Amino acid sequence: MQTLLDKCWHHITAEKAAELLDVDTEKGLDVFETESRLKDFGENVIASKKTQPAWKRFLLQFHQPLIYILIISGIITAALGEWVDSIVILGVVLVNAVTGFFQELKAVRALSALASSMRVQATVIRGGTKQTMDASQLVPGDVVLLGSGDKIPADMRIVQSWELRVDESTLTGESIPTNKNSNESPKDAVLADRHGMAYAGTIVSYGQGRGVVVATGGNTELGRISGLVESAQDIMTPLTRKIAHFSHILLVAILFLAGFAFVFGVLRDEPATEMLMAAVALAVGAIPEGLPAAITVILALGVSRMAEKRAIIRKLPAVETLGGTTVICSDKTGTLTRNEMTVQAIYCGQASYAVSGSGYDTEGVITPQNGATRESETVLQECLRAGMLCNDADLKESEGKTTIQGDPTEAALLVAAAKGGLDQATESRSHPRVSAIPFESDLQYMATLHKGPDGHIAYMKGAVEVILARCNAALGPDGTSATPDKNEINDTQITLASKGLRVLALARKRIADPDSFDKHSLESNMEFLGLQGMIDPPRTEVKEAINNCHRAGVDVKMITGDHAVTAQAIGNMLGLERSECVKSNSCRVLTGREIADMSDTELMEDVREVSVFARVSPEQKLRLVMALQSQGEICAMTGDGVNDSPALRQANIGIAMGQSGTEAAKEAADMVLTDDNFATIEAAVEEGRGVFANLTKFIAWTLPTNAGEGLVILAAILFGATLPILPVQILWINMTTAGSLGMMLAFEPKEKGIMNRPPRRPDKPLWDKVIIRRVAMVSLLLLASAFGLFKLEVLTGATIEEARTMAVNVFVAVEAFYLFNSRSFERSPFDLGIMSNPWVIGGFLFSFLLQLAYTYVPFMNTVFGSAPISLFGWFKVLACGVIVFLLVEMDKRRDARRQ
Ligand code: ATP
Repeated sequence: MQTLLDKCWHHITAEKAAELLDVDTEKGLDVFETESRLKDFGENVIASKKTQPAWKRFLLQFHQPLIYILIISGIITAALGEWVDSIVILGVVLVNAVTGFFQELKAVRALSALASSMRVQATVIRGGTKQTMDASQLVPGDVVLLGSGDKIPADMRIVQSWELRVDESTLTGESIPTNKNSNESPKDAVLADRHGMAYAGTIVSYGQGRGVVVATGGNTELGRISGLVESAQDIMTPLTRKIAHFSHILLVAILFLAGFAFVFGVLRDEPATEMLMAAVALAVGAIPEGLPAAITVILALGVSRMAEKRAIIRKLPAVETLGGTTVICSDKTGTLTRNEMTVQAIYCGQASYAVSGSGYDTEGVITPQNGATRESETVLQECLRAGMLCNDADLKESEGKTTIQGDPTEAALLVAAAKGGLDQATESRSHPRVSAIPFESDLQYMATLHKGPDGHIAYMKGAVEVILARCNAALGPDGTSATPDKNEINDTQITLASKGLRVLALARKRIADPDSFDKHSLESNMEFLGLQGMIDPPRTEVKEAINNCHRAGVDVKMITGDHAVTAQAIGNMLGLERSECVKSNSCRVLTGREIADMSDTELMEDVREVSVFARVSPEQKLRLVMALQSQGEICAMTGDGVNDSPALRQANIGIAMGQSGTEAAKEAADMVLTDDNFATIEAAVEEGRGVFANLTKFIAWTLPTNAGEGLVILAAILFGATLPILPVQILWINMTTAGSLGMMLAFEPKEKGIMNRPPRRPDKPLWDKVIIRRVAMVSLLLLASAFGLFKLEVLTGATIEEARTMAVNVFVAVEAFYLFNSRSFERSPFDLGIMSNPWVIGGFLFSFLLQLAYTYVPFMNTVFGSAPISLFGWFKVLACGVIVFLLVEMDKRRDARRQ
């Protein structure tokens, strides 16, 4: 078998390829054979390319302007002979790099693991049955069915194709899709010219096909140049970029202040070495070392929380953008509705029928309603037959339950035909399929050609207006051809659609020459057979989710390929329309045709008003997204088909369906819903808001420490006083509080009412008035309490080490109490429930233990220059914390009163 690997597959015929691989292309391999081949060839997986080597990523941790300052500070202190300080500063730089490295690694791993948990699925024929399975289990010889949007799971020789086109840009760089067929190519044909082959990692952009796997995993073309498989995840987000920008400004400010402090001190005749140490302390204090790593961690935690809610984030920035979403454009079928279709009504031969039963259970009967006669039975049978034969779905019975394989719309037609007494196997035998034009959203129909007892016949099914436009005859009540009453057919469609039913029309045409069967041959002279109306019940949880979105100021728009009337009926059931237009009965539906006639400016004017868009082609989705974005909206857009990819990429958040979505859509998306459910989007938006709130809380908590430390040093220099805190002590404060206190805000539960506020405006600066005021207030309070207490201690006879220990403890105590304040910008922690975030309590106690160690453990005293303090000293320290806590709470009250 292994010798097959280097065959020139594109150069031999499809039949020869199947023969060499010892497989029947109709039945596929049998289970035993696949097991033994799996042992021989291994799983169909490609080890992803290593991104930057670890050492490089580690070194990059030092490549930050603020870290440069720390390194320079370390060198200066070493030059001054302050070895302990120098070692601690450089030690902190190292610890920071190590934690940053691992946190980044964790975030990247979590994202990659989530991404790879969404395994590629393949539709395979094994042992004569069609099955969907994990592509990693494919072996050479497997027969794979390809449809538009599929990612080709392994290298394969095409044995059958229907207008198959494949986007091979991942391999060849060529963005125009290549036509594929079963023909062989010259031996020396380059990859892009091998029309009989489809290669792993490329994407079917149109049509259908059948191929035999010739190489898997590392033996595929992709595997050989596996450098193409990028596992890199960009973990920069708009926020981290803003922070990076802020760091640059901070760098300049710190350098200026440190330089100023040094010159100022020296001019006042202070010893230069002492002033250099003060400048170092200032620089070290003002740098928020832990900030970038903390932000990545908070975002990564958000990613795992969203995954628990069945929303898989593929790109980290999405976590942040989700919170700011102002409009969600959702597909109807499968996302707002269950995508469990059941035919409930049939219209054919000018008679109507009701179909009983629910779901895909074939129990149920077709009952004649108006106009049915004994003769019309044959017309009904032909209408059902068309639905059964022009169909790629399968019904499966297992444990007394019917499950489906394939498109639910098609499965519903199979069930209806079964209820009418037709058997799929018998019909397929008497009318074997010769050719097909697969369903594509932009065609809105599917057609198949069959060899029947009386010659070749084409069956077609699809959107009513598309089919009817091709019909010049209709099968009349007596089974003979008559002129179609298009008005009556349209009226019937509207009646059914206004009940929320998706209506499909069915038609047929005799084809004399089977080779002439193509789209063109089906453009006219078709014979109308009937309509079938199917219900797709709305998902129960969606109505509430839409309501929540409306309350949160997030607009929801339904963008569907379905008929306007069906779409509006479903929209009404879900409460999609804004109540004003429902009351005045003025809700509008925009159709694809109307959109096509509109200029971009007209579309921009209307797009916000309308909630239901019907008969929209995937290409038009892109225009809609752009129109919404031009109105300043932050747009989330769902999609499942291959043609949805451009819209998914353009949207601020592209959302693909995990179950029904094509690989192409998933690849273009920022987020994938594992349950295809709209309610999950709403939950993810809520989660996104929570994550963003926690980020701002963390920032508002952390900045006062740095600003306060900077101010204390600056004040000491300006007043010519001894430094109340030394560089190493500052580093102690920064490193311990960020980890033991600040990070606890990442676990802060979402505040109640987070979905009752309007979305955050994207252009809103990170620092709003409240944040700036609070940061300024706490920084000044830190300055007053640390500096004041230090002075007081010195004046009352404490040693300089004891006074500094007091100052350090004040910093930590104020930060610890301020952590409780920071749990909400508006509400008191007592309102939130003190125990509702136990992590904060844990962090508070842990930092207290750390401070006890800092104060009393002799080793710490030596390294950090700390000294034991009295119980009364602790009382003063805690009093500072409590006072700051109370003042911040009073400030919140004042804000609340003002509003
Ligand atoms: P949504 O965009 O809400 O998810 P959709 O994706 O189901 O809706 P399309 O799949 O583009 O919309 O379908 C558009 C129209 O094409 C349907 O209203 C129906 O009339 C027709 N149609 C859908 N599926 C098939 C099919 N398998 N064969 C033939 N026609 C179909």
